[in-house]
Amino acid sequence: MFNKVEKRAKYYLNFHFGNSRGGIRLIEFRDVSKRYEDGTLAVKDLSLTVEKGEIFVLIGPSGCGKTTTMKMVNRLIDHTDGKILIDGKEIYQFDIFELRRNIGYVLQQIALFPHLTVEENISVVPELLKWKKERTKDRVTELMKIAGLDPKLRSKKPAELSGGQQQRVGVLRALAADPDVILMDEPFSALDPISRGQLQDDIKRLNDELGKTILFVTHDMQEAMKLGDRIALMRDGELMLVGTPEEILASEDPFVLEFTQRGRGELDA
Ligand code: ADP
Repeated sequence: MFNKVEKRAKYYLNFHFGNSRGGIRLIEFRDVSKRYEDGTLAVKDLSLTVEKGEIFVLIGPSGCGKTTTMKMVNRLIDHTDGKILIDGKEIYQFDIFELRRNIGYVLQQIALFPHLTVEENISVVPELLKWKKERTKDRVTELMKIAGLDPKLRSKKPAELSGGQQQRVGVLRALAADPDVILMDEPFSALDPISRGQLQDDIKRLNDELGKTILFVTHDMQEAMKLGDRIALMRDGELMLVGTPEEILASEDPFVLEFTQRGRGELDA
C-alpha cells in the first residue's frame, strides 16, 4: 500500500517538477521497470518525459541503467513493468518495424558495414524502405552537406575514413529516413577530444536545424552540460533528478554535487 502511494507521489513529483515543461510529450516512461531474467532489477519505477525537439541526456555511473532505459524505447530490450509511450501510443501497439523505422540509433562502436561505401552505408534504411534510387541519392547528398562531409567521401569505404568521419557517417545513417527520434548511446566516447567536440557541435546544429528529438546516453558530465536541454541523473536504476544544466548545477543534492564537482573530467565509466 505504502509502496503504491510512494509510487504515485514520485510520479506526481516527476510530472510537476522539472520533468515536463509543457511541450509536446514525445517519449513517456510511466513507472517503468526492467528486471532481467537473472533477477537484476536494472531500472526501477522510472517516470520521465522527453519532449519533442529536445536533447534529453541520461547520465550516471556505469551500471545505473542508462543503456537499458534507452534500449527499451526501440524494444531492443522489453520492459517488465509500467508503460512506455511514443506520441501517446504504447510502444507495444506499434509494429516493431514501424517503431524502429521511426527511431534512429547511434552506437559507440561505429557499426558501419565495412564492405559498403559511405553512400551505401547511409542508404541502408532508405533501401530497406524501397525508396526510389534518385530520392536516396538526393538524401545522401543533402545529409553529407548538412554534416559538412566532403562529397568525395561518397565512394570511400569506412576504413579509408578517420574515426570522426566514420562516426559522422553513423549519425547520418541514423538520420537517413528522417526519423522523429534518435537514440545515441555514448556515440562519441571512442573519439579523440577534438573530433568529439566537433561531433557534439554537429549534434547541436542538427537538433536546431532539423528539430529532431534526441535521447543521449553519456557518463561525461561536460558532454551532458554542453548538449542537454535537460539532463536526467540516474543511480542504481532510479531517477535521481531531472533538470536543465543550470538546475543541475544549482542542485545541493550530495549525489549531484559529487557528479558536478567531478564534471571537469569524466565520471567513472
Ligand atoms: P549503464 O548503461 O548505466 O552502464 P546498463 O543499463 O547497461 O547500465 O545496466 C544496468 C544493470 O543491469 C547493471 O547492473 C547491469 O549489470 C545489468 N544488466 C545489463 N544487461 C543485463 C542482462 N542482459 N542480464 C542481466 N543483467 C544485465
